[in-house]
Amino acid sequence: MFKKILIANRGEIACRIIRSAKSMGIATVAVYSEVDADAKHVEMADQAVNIGPPEATKSYLVAKKIIAAAKKTGAEAIHPGYGFLSENADFVRAVADASITFIGPPAEAIAAMGDKITSKKLAAKAGVITVPGYQGLITGTEHALEIATDIGYPVMIKATAGGGGKGMRIAMTQAEMEESISSARHEALASFGDDRIFIEKYIENPRHIEIQILADTHGNIIHLGERECSIQRRHQKVIEEAPSPFLDEDTRAAMGAQAVALARMVDYTSAGTVEFIADQKKNFYFLEMNTRLQVEHPVTEMVTGVDLVEAMIRIAAGEKLWLKQDDIKLEGSAIEARVYAEDPYRGFLPSIGRLKRYLPPETSEGVRLDDGVYEGAEISMYYDPMIAKLITHKPTRKEAILTMGLALDSYYIRGIAHNITFLSAVMASERFAKGELSTGFIAEEFGDGFEGAPLTEKIQTRLIATAAFLYGRDYARERRMLTPGAQAKGSGQKEWVVRLGGVETAVSYEADAKGARISLNGKSLSLQSDWVPGWSVFRGALDGTPFVVEIDRLAMGYKLTTSGVSETVVVLTLRQAELYHRMPVKVPADTSKFLLCPMPGLLVSVHVKAGEKVLAGQALVVVEAMKMENILRAEKDGRVAKIRVKAGASMAVDDVILEFE
Ligand code: ADP
Ligand code: ADP
Ligand code: MG
Repeated sequence: MFKKILIANRGEIACRIIRSAKSMGIATVAVYSEVDADAKHVEMADQAVNIGPPEATKSYLVAKKIIAAAKKTGAEAIHPGYGFLSENADFVRAVADASITFIGPPAEAIAAMGDKITSKKLAAKAGVITVPGYQGLITGTEHALEIATDIGYPVMIKATAGGGGKGMRIAMTQAEMEESISSARHEALASFGDDRIFIEKYIENPRHIEIQILADTHGNIIHLGERECSIQRRHQKVIEEAPSPFLDEDTRAAMGAQAVALARMVDYTSAGTVEFIADQKKNFYFLEMNTRLQVEHPVTEMVTGVDLVEAMIRIAAGEKLWLKQDDIKLEGSAIEARVYAEDPYRGFLPSIGRLKRYLPPETSEGVRLDDGVYEGAEISMYYDPMIAKLITHKPTRKEAILTMGLALDSYYIRGIAHNITFLSAVMASERFAKGELSTGFIAEEFGDGFEGAPLTEKIQTRLIATAAFLYGRDYARERRMLTPGAQAKGSGQKEWVVRLGGVETAVSYEADAKGARISLNGKSLSLQSDWVPGWSVFRGALDGTPFVVEIDRLAMGYKLTTSGVSETVVVLTLRQAELYHRMPVKVPADTSKFLLCPMPGLLVSVHVKAGEKVLAGQALVVVEAMKMENILRAEKDGRVAKIRVKAGASMAVDDVILEFE
């Protein structure tokens, strides 16, 4: 076994790999760029080497620097994590040339699977069912139209070098082809430096299901069942689970056999994932093979009990697989939610900045957190916007969802925008609970933007009761501080009015030994909690049902967040309620005549001119942020009065891009 390994990555995955190495008694070396000098992975590793400037192309992606760091520290092997150099065959060869072991598959397998056309051809040869389409490069628009007509619409245009859902566009009809091809090419060039594309049939209403495999260097290959990753946004996974609520034993076995056959065809070793797209009738087709550890590998670890990082290290060290196919049993249900630095309320635009508050949920039996940050850390514009992965594992899917909802509701992050409320809304969704998934789930359930989960009566009651509880405790504390000994006077039953979303509810409140008794809308409820003023997270049980609410104090009232709902709640005494009605209403400034830049980024292009009439939904400008191109569209019909900035401009949040008449 190795004595020391280097981890050529950062963030949660570097931390994750260090954890397994440590448990195996292997010393670890981290690498870091200048902005990552104080990062968690650096702190966790036994040694760390600075590899230069923040831009990945000058640090994490420079093979020479990584190999030099391994040489200098005497690391015998390199684990690449995911992203960066993990699927770079040249890197793997360079590592071998330096007499260092690469913890991953052979260069040839990576090269063969890295190109989507080559991998499809190989898959077909191995007897794997592939998505119908044209197995060759597209030379021009004419050619593309011909091929698409042949395949039949809708079609999917994909970058040969694609990954991470980038460089991929759907064309429902011929009319959409030109724009789809050009934007797919453009995004592919920006993301991969390669604008080659191909076309395949778009499988409608599909589910993404993938098979985890493990292969040793002695010819043994097994699969560890599937993960379903249908909850996606823009073809990027957001929530994953194992096992899939969709698969039966036969389909699982058939998919597993195909995945193993493909791995055998390319002499695969290490951990790998074969991705399939399935239609609602359980026909499934090969999409691609990812020759690395996958982001969502923890759900497989939870249900199989296999540590995949440990397995990769042992296989790289030459060990024979210690597991047979029959040893793999899927136990319980595991779900993973990806916590991203992005603002669901503003079209999921990426957010950067400092984590001013970072209070992750407590981990315990069945709750796992893979993160790579701490309070005070900076989410920079240079890297992936993923902050953490939260994983729950319970005997049933229902319990795993419930546990995830509670854990998300107690995950308190301030200082940057994040998607936790959105994730929590998915956990609260009935359709998700039923397992009726498809890759269109998010778009269908939430549209393009997220406005919060619906305020159901149940949640409303929880929020009103919580607000009364907080107010009651705040009030009692205030009285104690103002007049010591006044406690007795401050107790007893109180009559208050709680305002939530413009609706007033009369509430009577009385503190008791375990919490409080709260009456509203003719119901008397017992709210138990150990909450004390100062805590940002409220954990309680209303008539025995546990729930969690996050608290932000406002000048007046509280902003309360739970199950994807975020509301301002104000508690008033009867006298205050009376006065409240006489307060002037503040009207927010009218910005409807402006197109404001919703995130920091680069203005790539302007698609309208001053004086031009625009229709609702029409593309106005393209802003690039974190390598993603975001099209800003007209919200309603109108006419452009003036363009304030030119393409190429650097934009800050809320900068005015153009004015409407
Ligand atoms: P997976 O395919 O493992 O489920 P995704 O498809 O969501 O994961 O990953 C998106 C792409 O971005 C992958 O190619 C992955 O390797 C890459 N990626 C994800 N996170 C990072 C990161 N922190 N740094 C670099 N690349 C990353
Ligand atoms: P990437 O390399 O970016 O991960 P994939 O080929 O794995 O690209 O596809 C990513 C996602 O795009 C899939 O999970 C699925 O949601 C969607 N997708 C890809 N190909 C098709 C297709 N032919 N039909 C329908 N959806 C597809
Ligand atoms: Mg994929």
